[in-house]
Amino acid sequence: MRRKPFVACMNCKALLPRGTERCPYCGSTEITENWDGVVIIISEESELIGKTEYLKKPGRYAVEVSASE
Ligand SMILES: [Zn+2]
Repeated sequence: MRRKPFVACMNCKALLPRGTERCPYCGSTEITENWDGVVIIISEESELIGKTEYLKKPGRYAVEVSASE
């Protein structure tokens, strides 16, 4: 399996640097390497904000996450 440069928070789907153990956005410690797709929001005015439950502020997010084996 190809190593990804990021891990994802299972709770808010934020992409975090590899090695992160606690999500700085929501405080969750459920971090997974199993994620797919990337959404990048660069502005508070992005029309993507509010489109889904987890896109609330600028940042990098995974589209899908599932638990690491
Ligand atoms: Zn989070």
